[in-house]
This record gives sequence, C-alpha cells and structure tokens, in this order.
Amino acid sequence: MPSSLFSIPSPPLVPVEGLAEGFPVRRIFCVGRNYAAHAAEMGNEVDREAPFYFTKSAHALCLSGQTIPYPVGTNDCHYEMEFVVAIGADAKNVGTSNALDAVFGYACGIDLTRRDLQGAAKDKRRPWDLGKDFENAALIAAITTVREFGAVSRQRIGLVHDGAQVQSAALSDMVWSVPEIISHLSQFYHLGPGDLIYTGTPAGVGPVQPGSRLEGWIEGLAPITVEIA
Ligand code: MN
Repeated sequence: MPSSLFSIPSPPLVPVEGLAEGFPVRRIFCVGRNYAAHAAEMGNEVDREAPFYFTKSAHALCLSGQTIPYPVGTNDCHYEMEFVVAIGADAKNVGTSNALDAVFGYACGIDLTRRDLQGAAKDKRRPWDLGKDFENAALIAAITTVREFGAVSRQRIGLVHDGAQVQSAALSDMVWSVPEIISHLSQFYHLGPGDLIYTGTPAGVGPVQPGSRLEGWIEGLAPITVEIA
C-alpha cells in the first residue's frame, strides 16, 4: 500500500443540532425541477415520469454563516433555497415504504448556480457541471435529526434576499417526495452514510450581487445565512 503523495482537504463536517459530532459529507446529489412553479419560471415543464439529478463535489460544500467571494466565471449567479436530506444508512434498491429508514436528518441548503453557464450548457445540450459544481456552490446549515424534526409535511420553506422575501412555498409542494427521491435514486446509486440530497428549489430564484445577504429558512430547521463579498 503506497503512502499518499500529498494531503488534500477534507470536506467540512456539517454540524448537527444537539450533537458534538459532525456529519461527514461523501457525495452531493441534487434534484432538478421538483417544484412546478419553479420549473414554469425557468420555461420548463415538470417531468412526471421520473425525477432527474445532477451532482456537486463534496468540495463544493460551504457551511452557513460565512462570507464567500462572488463566484468566478459568471455574471449571473443565482440562489436556490432547498430542503436537504442527509443520509445516514445504506440504501440500495429500496422502496418508498422503507426509504426513510436511510435518513439521518434534514437541513437548510442553498444550491448556488452560475445561471449563465447552466443556460449555455442547456442550449448546447451539454452537461450542467460548470453551472452547478464549483467552490462554495453547495451551502448548508446545521442538520436537525429526524427524531427532532419529525415527518416532512407542509412545513414552509423560504428565502430572504437583502431583507425581501423572494422565495416561499411548502415542502408538500415538491413534485417528488423524499421517499420517492430516495427510492428512485437508490436504483442508480448505493446510497450510504455521508450522502446529501438537495431536493430542488421553489419559485422565486434570482441573482445575487457582491454585498448580497441571503437568509434561508425552513420551519423546524436551523436557518442558513450567507453573505457575498
Ligand atoms: Mn437546485
């Protein structure tokens, strides 16, 4: 077994409310178009046959409460407030009835998106990576355990940009429910501890500017805040 040539940074541990230990992040999956009103504002229709996904590197993770630089390579960086599922147990080919057994907890997250690069990729039928997977693009607040949070139902989700409420919806507005997403994703990946799933954003996405302050909230979870330098 060779030794390592050099050390690489570990993804940050996500704090967990009420626990001393942090949640180590392995992979980040993201659901596209999971709220009909957001799909419509982007000029798309919801695919009701199956959810679809993109991924972000674990090194794109950034904890709540930080000030981050305006992302490089874009002139149109958007916020997308999202409900994040933290996986804490193996899930492979699970059905919807026991999909929730794999859930460790939930958190507020923001899927930062270089919308101009995503749009150019869509136009050319290319992958979305440049638009979605970059440093600090996966913002996350502290995780609340399932035991503390309870069942996902009609909890409200929203985002305040520079004091103005710009996103507001209910978790029950999601096209694909948490059990449906886990069940479907687990047909393609062997999900396991450390995986995060960003479950899509409601309507009201928009651009950030240097100096922007974002405050995202979901009933029952620790809020997420970030400032753009
Ligand atoms: Mn998103």
